[in-house]
Amino acid sequence: MDQTYSVGIIGGGISGAVTALHLANAGVDCILLEQRESLVSGPPFCHLHAGGNLYPDISDQQCRLLLRQSIESARFFPQAIDQRPTFLSIPQNAPLRPAEIHRRLTMLKEYYQSLIQEDPSNQILGPSREYFQAFSREELESLAKRSLKAKPKTHEEWMRNTLEVIDLEQLQTPVFMVQEYGWNMFRLAAGAQLALEETEHCEVRCRTKVTCILDLREDSTDHNWEIQSGSGSYKVNFLVNAGGYQTREVEALLGLSTPGWIEFKASYLTQWSNLPCPLPELIFHGERGTPEGMAQLTPNNGGYFQIHGMSEGITLFPGGLKKVSESTGGPPANQPLFNPGIMSKLQKGWDQEEIELRTNRAIGYIGKYVPDFHRAEVGGPPLYGAQQIVGEDSNLRVAEVSFPQDHYARIDTIKASSALSAAGKILDKILEQEPSQAKAPKQSPQPLIEAVPKSKIDSIAKK
Ligand SMILES: Cc1cc2nc3c(=O)[nH]c(=O)nc-3n(C[C@H](O)[C@H](O)[C@H](O)COP(=O)(O)OP(=O)(O)OC[C@H]3O[C@@H](n4cnc5c(N)ncnc54)[C@H](O)[C@@H]3O)c2cc1C
Repeated sequence: MDQTYSVGIIGGGISGAVTALHLANAGVDCILLEQRESLVSGPPFCHLHAGGNLYPDISDQQCRLLLRQSIESARFFPQAIDQRPTFLSIPQNAPLRPAEIHRRLTMLKEYYQSLIQEDPSNQILGPSREYFQAFSREELESLAKRSLKAKPKTHEEWMRNTLEVIDLEQLQTPVFMVQEYGWNMFRLAAGAQLALEETEHCEVRCRTKVTCILDLREDSTDHNWEIQSGSGSYKVNFLVNAGGYQTREVEALLGLSTPGWIEFKASYLTQWSNLPCPLPELIFHGERGTPEGMAQLTPNNGGYFQIHGMSEGITLFPGGLKKVSESTGGPPANQPLFNPGIMSKLQKGWDQEEIELRTNRAIGYIGKYVPDFHRAEVGGPPLYGAQQIVGEDSNLRVAEVSFPQDHYARIDTIKASSALSAAGKILDKILEQEPSQAKAPKQSPQPLIEAVPKSKIDSIAKK
């Protein structure tokens, strides 16, 4: 325990794990401390928000940032990307109009083109002219006469398959197919874990909950912070708080408090077997938080489908979105962050009755637009968790990292694709403060990840 690490990272979700990979790759010695059994085992992610098209209410600027960060993330770990597009539609009774979606997609297509011009390797979502395609009612009727595709490649082929299952009468036209891919959290977790095991520049300690942090920046020691847990203490020069929704609990150990929001959400696992053809991800837009909030059906392997329904009876929960201000930033033992029902789910899991109730409700939610989905069945326990949203605006969808104090970074990730960008900024900050910290040339994190054999990733991800 006498070693002094250049960087101590608290939290081994995607933000902490990707930061550790990025630093280790640049030769910066770090230690990653995670209270759970394994890395990247917190709230789920399944959708690469390559343009933010699931959020019509956010700004164009946030959409462009999400597109840029998603491309960086997909380049960082291509093995975790499921290459299938997303079907975007608006139900007849929704206030949103297709023209608004069309305008945004056109803007994003141009921006994607500029990213490819900047660096041709950014063309990871296919050619920019194929970023999206709009389909009028007449085009859909004509497409419906074609045969289904077992291995769809073009937008038209994916749309043909989609027409087999959706009730078009429920939807406004045009509808859209866009290159927002799936993101396999299990493959990313497996790859990150294996890559970190291989590097000499990062020590990973799971089952290690940080309970105290000593600020030694004013003392004449060779390190700035001492991080303490039940099993030991660790000397570090630079501290990274990657605690996810518990970021503020870690900040409370430092006497800091940053206002923001925390949100508990769940998605539901279902099995829908004997489908005639592969499907894209299906989105039926709606006003978040109302009984008609967005419905999202995400295909996984083996006939499994994940459902998000942005209504309080399904993905959202009463008391699930909570503002955290200075008064609620105290130690967790004194102040539970959510109401008892949510805290019980976070700490002990779900009871079977609620799994059945909410998953069946979710099946009915999708069944409004996909009639055959009514025969889907509960596929397992929900995927769930809490996340943070920094600042005043609870609709914010992109945030990266901030440096509130000297030798301290707080990661503010809202969507998982922001983690890599946050890691890059932390490395820049460390090298700016102490260029001697890097023992290897500064480079992208690919080399560590690329060295991991695909078969090993597959085997761990399956488990
Ligand atoms: C239902 C749901 C669906 C989602 N879907 C998507 C999606 O499709 N696409 C997308 O991009 N994003 C999605 N998100 C958001 C995404 O899950 C988060 O952005 C991402 O997981 C945040 O990662 P993180 O590493 O910052 O935080 P976390 O994953 O929460 O990691 C923080 C880690 O810190 C650890 N920790 C905290 N305190 C301590 C301590 N004192 N000591 C040691 N360890 C500590 C925790 O155990 C945890 O492992 C979804 C979120 C939810 C809830």
